[in-house]
Amino acid sequence: MKKIAIIGGGIAGAQAAVELARKNHQIILIEKSDQIGGNIKDYGCKAVDICLKDNLCLVDEIFNEVEEFDNIEKLYQTRVNDFEGEPGSYKLGIEREGEFSSINDLDYIVIATGYTQWSDLETGTPEVDQDERIIWASELEEFFKSRRDHLDQSNKINLGFIPNSAVFIQCNGSRSIKEKAKYCSRICCGYSYRMARVLKHFFPEIEITIFFMDLQEGGYLQELSYQKLEDNDIDYINCKPIKVSSTEENINIFFEDQNKGSKENLKTDLLVLSEGIHAKEVNEKWSQLYNLQLDEYGFLYPIEDEKRTQIYLAGTIKGPKDIAGTLSDSKNVAYKIINEIETGG
Ligand SMILES: Cc1cc2nc3c(=O)[nH]c(=O)nc-3n(C[C@H](O)[C@H](O)[C@H](O)COP(=O)(O)OP(=O)(O)OC[C@H]3O[C@@H](n4cnc5c(N)ncnc54)[C@H](O)[C@@H]3O)c2cc1C
Ligand code: SF4
Repeated sequence: MKKIAIIGGGIAGAQAAVELARKNHQIILIEKSDQIGGNIKDYGCKAVDICLKDNLCLVDEIFNEVEEFDNIEKLYQTRVNDFEGEPGSYKLGIEREGEFSSINDLDYIVIATGYTQWSDLETGTPEVDQDERIIWASELEEFFKSRRDHLDQSNKINLGFIPNSAVFIQCNGSRSIKEKAKYCSRICCGYSYRMARVLKHFFPEIEITIFFMDLQEGGYLQELSYQKLEDNDIDYINCKPIKVSSTEENINIFFEDQNKGSKENLKTDLLVLSEGIHAKEVNEKWSQLYNLQLDEYGFLYPIEDEKRTQIYLAGTIKGPKDIAGTLSDSKNVAYKIINEIETGG
């Protein structure tokens, strides 16, 4: 039996904990908040009359399993301050509710402290604070939060008003040199499409337009042709709007229609700004504590000699991933550790 610390109780940390606990190792799951779940605990199922494969239904099962294993010790409201030693005698200095102590004799450490969503950062999008009809995707997620039961049709969403139209603007905080994020966040095309379908489901008369720069063809969207996306009565316009302004009646989206070569103004009742996945500030601390390398955006590079250091990274700490990608990355990390233990390296 090995003693393994997992830092971060999102789906990456939870999945690694469950896989390693199944093999009877002693797991200490360290989470800075007062519960497991990470970002995904605030999101809701986006099934409509059919499942749209957002994979939300996979995660509750994993979180329940974490609770069930006796060999997973959960330390909530706990932060790691210090680190020393080598494999087999790693020591983590921790702070829990103002008290300092240490976890000793660790064989392995898995760091899974996840990502920051774009709306939590300084964004330079003042309209969001000034008009409650302009919201971030994570705020729209909150309206879906009670929809954890797959295909529960009775579970309505209540926005507080019935929108006649909604616009989604994609790629906020991604694909932008100005935002220091030249990369694609890989998740927002998918969740925006699903959110649009949920809005259509609850407000059948609503007109929906999605402004996009590029369509990320990962996961579920890969199965849909462009034509099928539009067949769902959603207009796709391939450009980033120039300007957004609001009046008492509606929100104005100014954009350049590349087909007509003219400047247009689309009026809407609700504007949803997609938001990407950004690196957490804490990554800098991990890079100093464990001598790990940061990429240009602040994500951590996978550790090259993880077999020797017995320190692993799991999930979105390494870069944008959806739930399926995070779960598979995390399983992969757990299997590598199990394999090393069972084969003696
Ligand atoms: C708006 C939005 C909607 C999305 N919708 C979908 C969707 O419908 N389907 C889908 O597949 N994906 C979706 N995603 C992506 C999904 O959120 C991620 O794939 C997933 O949450 C990644 O999990 P994680 O465990 O890597 O990170 P996180 O969820 O960030 O978890 C990290 C955990 O580590 C903890 N932690 C952080 N720092 C410390 C520290 N110093 N010490 C201890 N603990 C710490 C945090 O409190 C947190 O619990 C969405 C993303 C966004 C932004
Ligand atoms: S997933 Fe789509 S919306 Fe998100 S950054 Fe990539 S292209 Fe833009």
